[in-house]
Amino acid sequence: MPPSENKPQRQNTTGSAGGSEVGQEVWSDAELLAFFEESLPAAKMAKLENACRHDQALRQRLARVRGREDAGLHTVGAIWRRNRLSCPPRGELGQYLLRVLPAEYAEYIRFHLEIVGCRICQASVRDLELQREAASTELQQRQSRFFESSAGYLSKRQS
Ligand SMILES: [Zn+2]
Repeated sequence: MPPSENKPQRQNTTGSAGGSEVGQEVWSDAELLAFFEESLPAAKMAKLENACRHDQALRQRLARVRGREDAGLHTVGAIWRRNRLSCPPRGELGQYLLRVLPAEYAEYIRFHLEIVGCRICQASVRDLELQREAASTELQQRQSRFFESSAGYLSKRQS
């Protein structure tokens, strides 16, 4: 028998039923969500699953995170996770430039462009911007031609 077995049992007289002892992992909301989507590394999946078994608080937290996610289908995070790495269609990038998209979706595209830094979409946006500039230059030229000719027309009428 090892000598440590002779030590007195761990005292439990303080009344604290020892829930928050060492060895408890702190899970972030993002990790809990990733757990639902089974996108956590396998070792973490197993660890969290195991932790859930005897941690009611953690189970409740999971339920809360889950509920919030279901309720907030249109939060930026939810949209992003649903679309994960997919790119918005070019038409929507155009609408984004024109600022006619719903705010949340525009925010997702901004996220995709600036935070994710998708090069394909960044190139599309540059391209669309160039097209738009070209179109507006053309419009300005047309307008100024129109004003010149109508100014000419007016001055002719006035004389
Ligand atoms: Zn993209």
